[in-house]
Amino acid sequence: MIIQFEQEIEEGQKEAIINRVKGLKYKPTEVKTQKGDYLVGTGSKEFDIRSIGSMDGIKDIHIVSDGFKLVSRKWKVNPTVIDLGDGVVIEEGGFQIMAGPCSIEGEEQIRKTIAHLKSQGITIMRGGVYKPRSSPYAFRGLGIDGLKVWYELAKEAGMKIITEVMQVSQIAEMDPYVDIYQVGARNTQNFNLLDELGKGTDKPVMIKRGISGTIDELLSSAEYVFSGGNERLLLCERGIRTYEKATRNTMDLNAVAVLKEKTHLPVIADPSHGIGIRAHVEPIALASIMAGADGVIFESHEIPEEAYSDGQQTLNYNESNRLIDRMRKTFELRKSF
Ligand code: PEP
Ligand code: MN
Repeated sequence: MIIQFEQEIEEGQKEAIINRVKGLKYKPTEVKTQKGDYLVGTGSKEFDIRSIGSMDGIKDIHIVSDGFKLVSRKWKVNPTVIDLGDGVVIEEGGFQIMAGPCSIEGEEQIRKTIAHLKSQGITIMRGGVYKPRSSPYAFRGLGIDGLKVWYELAKEAGMKIITEVMQVSQIAEMDPYVDIYQVGARNTQNFNLLDELGKGTDKPVMIKRGISGTIDELLSSAEYVFSGGNERLLLCERGIRTYEKATRNTMDLNAVAVLKEKTHLPVIADPSHGIGIRAHVEPIALASIMAGADGVIFESHEIPEEAYSDGQQTLNYNESNRLIDRMRKTFELRKSF
C-alpha cells in the first residue's frame, strides 16, 4: 500500500497511522521526497482500505500489490514531469531528444557538438566523463575536470547535461555540473549508488536497463531511488543481451510499451546502444517512438570513425540531422493517432 500524508500532518497522527499499518502485519517505511511524504506498507494480508483511509493526516491511500510501488502507475494519476528549467521538460505526451558523443573528448569537441545540437533545436546534450569500459585499456573518460569544462560551455549555450555517474563518491563533486545523472546498464543494480542518488541529490536520474535485467528489475532499481527521496526519475531501454550475435544488443521495444503501462515515469529509448550498428540506429529510433517512448537518446559525433568510444554506433552530423527530422515527423504521426 501507499499512503500519501497530508502536508500538515501532525506527529501524533503519523504515529497512529504507522501503528494501524503495523497492526495489519504490514511493514511501514516512511519516504520523504522533494514532492511529498509517503508511507509505503509491504505485506500480503488482505484488508479493507476504509479501515485506514479515514484516519486523520491521510491525503490518499492506494493498494499497489506489485513489488515496486512508488514508481507504479497504479497510484499516481498524473505522470511524472521532469522539468529541467529554462523550458526544457521531459514528459508524457511530449518528445525530447538527447544527443551527443559517447565520450566527452575535449573542449573543441564539446563546442562543435553544442553548435550542432543548437542548430537542430536540441537542448539536452549527452556525453560520458566517467566511462564504464569492458577493457581497462580503453579510454575511460576525462573525469570531473572534463565535466567542469563541459558545464561552462553548456551553460553559456543554454544546453542541459546528461552524464553517467559510476560510484557514490562521484555524486557530491558532480552535482553542481549535472542536469540529469545517468545510471549505466552495468550499474543498474548497484544498490548503494541508487540509494545515494535517492538521498544525496535532487537532480533527475535516468536509469538504464541492465544488460540482462528484466523490466521488473529496472522498475525495482527506480524504486530504490524514489524510496530514498528522489522522485525525479526517468527509465531508459537500451537493449539487452540475448543469444543474437548479429547486433550488439537486442533493443527490446516491448519494454517501452510495457513500461509505459506499468510506470508513471518518462520512458526514454536508446537505439544507439540498443542495436549498436550505425546504419540501423534510425529505424530503431523511429520504431521506439511508435512504441511510446517519451524521448530518444542517441550518440552523435563530428567524425564517428575517430570517436574515443562507440564510434561503430555513432551518427555523424548529417545522419543526426536526418534522424532528428524524421523523429519529429514520426512523433507528429504518433500524436495524430
Ligand atoms: C553510454 O551511454 O555511453 C553507455 C555506456 O551506456 P550503457 O550503460 O547503456 O552501456
Ligand atoms: Mn556509448
